[in-house]
Amino acid sequence: MILKIILKEELKKGAEYLLHAGIKHYQLESEILLSHILEVSREKLHIRDEADILDEKYAKWMSVLAERKKLRPIAYLLGKKEFMSMDFFVDENVLIPRPETEFLVEKVQELARDKRNFPWWIIDLGAGSGNIAVSLLKHLNEGLVFATDISGDALKVAKKNAEKHNVENRIVFFEGCWFLPFEGKNLEGKMDFIVSNPPYLTRVEMDSITPDVGYEPKKALYGGEDGLRFYPGIINGALKFLKPGGYLILEIGVEHKEKILNLIDNGGYDKPEVIKDYSGFDRVIAVRKTV
Ligand code: GLN
Repeated sequence: MILKIILKEELKKGAEYLLHAGIKHYQLESEILLSHILEVSREKLHIRDEADILDEKYAKWMSVLAERKKLRPIAYLLGKKEFMSMDFFVDENVLIPRPETEFLVEKVQELARDKRNFPWWIIDLGAGSGNIAVSLLKHLNEGLVFATDISGDALKVAKKNAEKHNVENRIVFFEGCWFLPFEGKNLEGKMDFIVSNPPYLTRVEMDSITPDVGYEPKKALYGGEDGLRFYPGIINGALKFLKPGGYLILEIGVEHKEKILNLIDNGGYDKPEVIKDYSGFDRVIAVRKTV
């Protein structure tokens, strides 16, 4: 059955509903969600007065509003999130890409500009939606990524994103834990870059996550009691797989800098560089394997 709706009224209804749910950008979100359901641009919603809509689509509009009221992240409702000015598919099997992770990608781009020995070989550990791997390949032109994730369902999303952005023939996906899938693949000493945004929230941070973050996969967020569970293995493993002069670039938690610098100090690496995010927090560490 086809229904006729008055767009202005629906937008207002959506906005009021979201306002009552305590959503800060209620008007904007009402527009974003309705344009998603109707598959038209937000501008179009304001140009036209009425629209014809199938009753099941109308039911979908009501259900996304109800889900958003329960604070399900808008990225999951839309099935996508922007990262490095590119659209990525997301679902509840993957972490929603964060703007601060763009600092990691930008650092690799910067380091890659100074190197001559492309194509670059890169490992991405805990690829999730594939946002880091895919955006790197898109920007670097020359390169090959070996991406791992412990979750097969996350890798399905990453593969879709690789196809969406036409880099699927330059990524090899491995399901498994950190460096484990690379054992016996003869990749030791071959990498120009190893990148990772590992789970790094502490127990205390996990206990106080906001309801929207609660929809994201725990195993993509939680880094053990002190948030540092995965860093020693990554820092040691990277020494094995990097070329001399290759770089390890990691995202880190807000209070982790000193402890991670200590781990790096154990040998094999040059002096690390720490990069701050938009909020001024130490967020990314880049370090070169000693030549
Ligand atoms: N690499 C993905 C990202 O940076 C996923 C990271 C993760 O799941 N911890 O968003």
